Order: sequence, then C-alpha cells, then structure tokens
Amino acid sequence: MPVGAHVPRESELRERLALVCQRLYQKDLIAAGDGNVSLRLDAERVLVTPSGFHKGFIRPDELIITDLQGRKLRGAHKPSSEFAMHALIYAERPDVFAVVHAHPPHTVALALAGVSLTDCVLSETCLLLGQVPTAPYSTPTTQEVPDSLRPYVRSANAIVMHRHGALTMGKTVEEAWQRMEAVEHSAKIICAARAMGDVQPLPAHETQKLEQLAQTLGIPRPPQPPCPSPSDSAIIEAVLRKLRG
Ligand SMILES: [Zn+2]
Repeated sequence: MPVGAHVPRESELRERLALVCQRLYQKDLIAAGDGNVSLRLDAERVLVTPSGFHKGFIRPDELIITDLQGRKLRGAHKPSSEFAMHALIYAERPDVFAVVHAHPPHTVALALAGVSLTDCVLSETCLLLGQVPTAPYSTPTTQEVPDSLRPYVRSANAIVMHRHGALTMGKTVEEAWQRMEAVEHSAKIICAARAMGDVQPLPAHETQKLEQLAQTLGIPRPPQPPCPSPSDSAIIEAVLRKLRG
C-alpha cells in the first residue's frame, strides 16, 4: 500500500460489508438466509457474515471476526456455515481481500440448463471478468464445496457453483460485489437472447483480442497456473515421498 494511503478502520469495513449485503438483496442476488460475504481485516483475521441471518438486513455490529480457518474470535453469533470456501480463497489467493457468495438466479438457471458462462459471449463481460467457469455440484456446508472449487480459484475471479450459486472475489468487497453483479447481468442478457434464438460465442481470435486489451488497460486477471487438483497433489506427494526415500 502506498505511503499515506487511507487504511480503513474496522468500523468502516463493517459498514462497507453490510452495505454490500444490502445491495445483494436489493438486486435479487440473494433471498431469505442466502449468501455470505467476507473480507480480510489483516493478515490473521477475517470479517464475515453470521450464519442463519437474512443478509439483506444485516447490521455492521452483527458481523463476526474469525481467524483464517473460520474459528470465531469476536462476535455474538456463529460465523457463516460456508466459511470453508472463504478459507480456501484466502489460502490460495493472496491477491484477494474479499469474497462474495450469492445465489444469482439467471446465472444458476443457465448452469441448470447446461449453458456454460466459460464461453465469451459479451465483449465487456469478457474484458472485465475473463473466463467464468462452473464448478461441479457439491453438498452445501461440507468439505465437498472447497474441494469442488479448488481447481478454479487461481484461474478465475468469478465461479459458478452448479445447482447452487456463484462466488466472486476481489481486492475490495466492492470489487467482489461488482463482479457478482456483472456475472448476473450478463447471465440475464444471455437468458433473454436464448429465449429468442441461438446464441453463439465470440470467435477465438476476438476473445484473444479482448485478453490483449485487458492487459493493455491493466484489467486484473487471476494468477496462473491453476491450483493442482487433489489427484495432482497426491501424485506430487507420492513423488516427494519417493525422493525423500
Ligand atoms: Zn449458497
């Protein structure tokens, strides 16, 4: 951070996180007890929404402080039951400071209908987000959730979760929220277009031009390469064991 840059206080970060929760509800990206949002307070602590609350009406003082593994450090309520996916992102993406999970209806509907958002259809969405992969189905609140997301977290800033919702990340909670809004907005357009006819992705050479433009304009892309899959990790571990004798 540059010398003299504004360092937000905890109270300000609580207000900003609660405001993003309100926006998620106002934009129909969550309903009832859906969704969870978190941000890094510092190297060891995370501010996260509580479990079982309607996030559209969450107050800044109801947010919970946990460590990076989700163990509660401060707050009157239980932290999000989906904290494992936030923990995964913070462990794998040191460039990420905030995570938004929501249930955007058009995004989930497209995945249910077997339509992937990985293909580039809309120029501005591709420019802003790059690829948006879909992670396979996983049972909510279990270890299956981070396991299903792991192969994608280093190569995407927005991931669709099959039969469930979506996850976006960013340097700030506002950036993560805007990425969620952008995913759902493009899904809405694609749904409307598909109701009227066939939708073709942009040709590969046009997608490459957008990637070059993203580089020129300094639009952030996630770090590469992707995280090793569990099977890759097992192979690496086996090789290391052999080398160690
Ligand atoms: Zn969810």
